Amino acid sequence: MGTADGITEAGIRAHMEFLAGDALNGRGSNSRDEWIAAAYIAAQFRQWGLEPMGDAGGFVQAAEILREQMAAPAVLSSGAAQFTHGQEMLVSTLTGAHVAGPLVKMAEGATSVPAGSVVLMPVPAATGGAAGAGRGRGTQATAGAAFLISLATDQTAEQWATAAARVISAGSRFATVPPTPNPARAARISVNKATYDALAAMADGTTVSLDAELRATTAHTWNAVGRLTGSDPAAQAEVVVLGAHLDHLGLRETARTDDKIYNGADDDASGTVAVMALAQALAAGPRPNRTLVFALFGSEEGGGAVSGSSYFVELPVVPLDQIVTQLQFEMLARHDPMVPAKSLWLTGYERSDLGSELAKHGAALVPDPRPEQSFFTRSDNIKFARKGVVSHTVSSFNLHTDYHQASDEIDTVDFAHLLASVRSMLEPVRWLANSTFKPAWTPEGRPR
Ligand SMILES: [Zn+2]
Repeated sequence: MGTADGITEAGIRAHMEFLAGDALNGRGSNSRDEWIAAAYIAAQFRQWGLEPMGDAGGFVQAAEILREQMAAPAVLSSGAAQFTHGQEMLVSTLTGAHVAGPLVKMAEGATSVPAGSVVLMPVPAATGGAAGAGRGRGTQATAGAAFLISLATDQTAEQWATAAARVISAGSRFATVPPTPNPARAARISVNKATYDALAAMADGTTVSLDAELRATTAHTWNAVGRLTGSDPAAQAEVVVLGAHLDHLGLRETARTDDKIYNGADDDASGTVAVMALAQALAAGPRPNRTLVFALFGSEEGGGAVSGSSYFVELPVVPLDQIVTQLQFEMLARHDPMVPAKSLWLTGYERSDLGSELAKHGAALVPDPRPEQSFFTRSDNIKFARKGVVSHTVSSFNLHTDYHQASDEIDTVDFAHLLASVRSMLEPVRWLANSTFKPAWTPEGRPR
């Protein structure tokens, strides 16, 4: 059945059946299936007349990711003294090929260390506490350290050899984004008793280095990005970004059921088809004054700091200061009984004036009824928000038990609810794209 805005249940179901069907294997982060999902969305964007913002005149944007690992045993050194991974010490975390700094022998109970220092962690006085040295309690106190050295716990030769043989990650980063040092992340090593004693005998300030040969393997994540340039030359530099994540958990051989495919119908094929349906309806015209960008992000589930949304904000195809707001759509396939019928909730509603203003213009948006779940920080919107862009997520996730299970399947989708949800956002988004309203954070609203 057709509707005046052109958004139909059949249209939504068609995209849902492709994206969340078994043929796409659950759109695993960094997988070829994720790429195919992006290519499918790109094909629709082309047909609807959006302008491509991806690579080489297309809509798909591929982000190359370098995953760095220790390729040969790392060496800890100071002057002529050398200690090797697997022999006198064990590396658990690396942050780069070379880290060095002045030695600081940390006293038990110290609350801070000098930035860039190599911290020799105190040996806990009580028995059984050694495994916690440098973790938990010490995390705040050692912030800013170059790397942390603790006394290894008692372990058998076999346990030591197993730890030595582990693959040691030095982190992942985008190949085309210059690495930004993360002072919150320190390398960590543990050393045997003789090495600990040798380090403890050195004077504070002695230079200590940790050197490792790193090997990078590459992976990719894929976004699909299209644009509707605003019709008003005076307003078209102002951009509203609508987004969702196109990936899910993929195939999992470890699944406890026969069904290994994590379809992610609700999470987040539902948000993806919502953004697609809004793109199609808005592309049909009349064209809004402001520019709209439709961005479907890869690797929300498995990406962390190298997700598609991180790539979008690190190498923005739209300057971030031109983005008026970013609205993310997540998990709209079922109604949440904690909010009124036909309502959707907005994460971090009270953090800005966006939700209340959209509500004034017809959006059935209410505050997130489950603030204890911290949904505001659990979706791609947080990547934009941390860069200062007013950004929230629209959802109706009701904490159903199919969340992140193979059972998040199309047959659990309430299509009437999903259709109504998408349609309820069309005119409010159209209003926003035609208005001069610029959302702003409330005084305490912007996340750190
Ligand atoms: Zn999700």
